[in-house]
Amino acid sequence: MIYLDYAADTPVASEVLDAYYDAAKTYIANPNAHHVLGQAAKAHINEIAKEIANYFNVAPEEVIFTSGATESNNLAIKGVAASNRRYGKHMITSYLEHSSVTGPMSALAQEGYEVDYVDLLPNGQIDLKHLKELLRPDTILVSVCAVDSELGTIQPIQEIAGILKEYEHCKFHVDATQAVAKISVSMEGVDLMTFAPHKFYGLHGSGVLLKKQALRIAPIIHGGVSTTIFRSGTPTTALIVATGEALKLYSAKQEKHYEHVKALNQMLREGLSKNSKVRINSPETSVPFILNISVKDKKALEVQEALAEKEIYISTKSACSTLNTPSRSVMAITKERKRAMNTLRISLSHLTTKEDIETFITVFNEIMNA
Ligand code: PLP
Repeated sequence: MIYLDYAADTPVASEVLDAYYDAAKTYIANPNAHHVLGQAAKAHINEIAKEIANYFNVAPEEVIFTSGATESNNLAIKGVAASNRRYGKHMITSYLEHSSVTGPMSALAQEGYEVDYVDLLPNGQIDLKHLKELLRPDTILVSVCAVDSELGTIQPIQEIAGILKEYEHCKFHVDATQAVAKISVSMEGVDLMTFAPHKFYGLHGSGVLLKKQALRIAPIIHGGVSTTIFRSGTPTTALIVATGEALKLYSAKQEKHYEHVKALNQMLREGLSKNSKVRINSPETSVPFILNISVKDKKALEVQEALAEKEIYISTKSACSTLNTPSRSVMAITKERKRAMNTLRISLSHLTTKEDIETFITVFNEIMNA
């Protein structure tokens, strides 16, 4: 079996699973309970929040634990929209965003908010000139991913933050789900940042929203105070411990893993460029973890299925997008609908080997030439 869909999900690391298991056995009480067992769980959660906060250079109170990146994105966007209505109803995002960003934006548009999509340059980066044109005194939110999930483009977050400084009421949200523990990310000039550990060998059902302390956002889940007023529900002690463990382990190995994957990505690009029926969509400047291609004369879905028959697993777009629709990201960059209809995403890990890539290229070419 060759798994090449790491942008959708990563296998949980045994250290993370052990940390989860130990915490689940040790902390049996509700961290919101006032007795000593509850307080022990809460103290441990606070320790983990401190470690995560230190890594991102923020305060522990700025770490909100959620059920995943989808919830974090929804909380950030709907939370800012509800709390900043008095300043305006205008928001800006990009065509590269995951559906958990564009989804809440579209829902808010139904409620009378105005959403603009910023243009992309041919290299996949946000067109900063267009962003400046779109910004208005009533813009309350800009939401841009650090790395997009389909092409792997890296966005100029610090430059965007610099531009937004001039807009007093405009908050900046960054979806860093495909970036954390892969490339360096910074909260400098950023008000809210999303990530989820299942993208770096952690567990499903857990996520984080970093939120600057001074920023008030309306919660989307109501009912009872938890570790924070911004997210109710019994804190998931063991999942929080597992999140901290995954971040500690994989941020420490980030550079080593990056170099390994970079070499594999180069191999993959070279191998696939020899096939005249393949067009590479991911710009050269993308992260090496993701390579997006379009295929000619074959349906991408059929290629994906034929690969799966040989136990090679890739995806057509991001896992949460709708089948049989063009890739918005590829469409936005290439402006070619046909090309955007027929995309495949190959995503790599430090667990991927040279042999995996060689086998993938051979089998892929056989399928394409059949
Ligand atoms: N944002 C990005 C950029 C993603 O790649 C994903 C998952 O594919 C999500 C958000 C949603 O993550 P989750 O599955 O943790 O809700």
